[in-house]
Amino acid sequence: MKKIGITTTVPIEILLAAGYQPVDLNNIFIADANPERLVAVAEKAGFPLNCCSWIKGIYGVCMEQRIDTVLCVTTGDCSNTVMLMEVLKLRGIKTIPFAFPERPDAGQMQKALEELAKTLDTTLDAADKVREQLKPCRQLALKLDELTWKEGVASGLENHLWLVAASDFNQDCHSYQRELEALIEQCRQRQLYPPDYLRIAYIGVPSVYGKDLYKYLESNGARVVFNEIQRQFAMPHPASSLAEQYTGYTYPYSIYDRLKDITTELEKRRIDGVIHYVQAFCHRGIGDIIFRDARKLPILTLEGNDDFLLTQHLKTRVEAFIDILQRSRRQTKIAEEV
Ligand code: SF4
Repeated sequence: MKKIGITTTVPIEILLAAGYQPVDLNNIFIADANPERLVAVAEKAGFPLNCCSWIKGIYGVCMEQRIDTVLCVTTGDCSNTVMLMEVLKLRGIKTIPFAFPERPDAGQMQKALEELAKTLDTTLDAADKVREQLKPCRQLALKLDELTWKEGVASGLENHLWLVAASDFNQDCHSYQRELEALIEQCRQRQLYPPDYLRIAYIGVPSVYGKDLYKYLESNGARVVFNEIQRQFAMPHPASSLAEQYTGYTYPYSIYDRLKDITTELEKRRIDGVIHYVQAFCHRGIGDIIFRDARKLPILTLEGNDDFLLTQHLKTRVEAFIDILQRSRRQTKIAEEV
């Protein structure tokens, strides 16, 4: 299949139906052994220092891997993608724009999907068949999510990796399904996480720290049991059509739609504290004001840029946050016993 780069989660069912293999450029960038190199490719080409590292990384991947077609989301993801698209065009890359509707409306989504199918010379009927084929993969991703928060046998990192990979199913949905089935089987043989582990929610775009943040939390007695956007990539709500599926997906829409989903999950998953990750120079960082206004739980905001590992400064902040949560848990326990 011909590869098509994607800049975020998009209706991949249409791409697959049209004979393309979607490649999530973000995942290639962050999984690279040396992501700094890819950022440097973009900076050498003239991307400003105060541009988000994900955008620069995507550009670097396109150049290094000679991606020749990219589906760029122009509404519902990133304000920088429009200009990235123009630069990619300048480099001779074919770009296909896709705009999520302004609000989660199934009628408008249907039109946007039809338009995309027409552009790629396929039909929504064909894409709906792909939706059926991908169902087992999506169900497995959600099973792993349950094994994380409900059954306590999957780690926050495993949860992050498999849910974030649902944007393109690691470019091979058959291997994804096989490997995830094996992991789920393995999880079922494991001992439960001890109940004294703090339960953390991670909200916001995936971080540039990759595995480091999850591992550091676990080594300090806390684990992530809710990865907000990664879970959205797996499409957590059952739907009877593609339009319905992508209307229930909260990421492209208003932050208040995300907040509704987050609030429900925080309660359901018995969260002790929230980490809100924001990327330097990203418009989404302003949303921290809204999350803090709505908060009922302690929240730690971490801003990352192009340090791909946790710095000592960040580790200290994470430790202090964990300390606050542990003390608060102890006090609640004492109060309950009195
Ligand atoms: S982190 Fe923000 S600025 Fe960077 S690519 Fe994502 S949405 Fe765009």
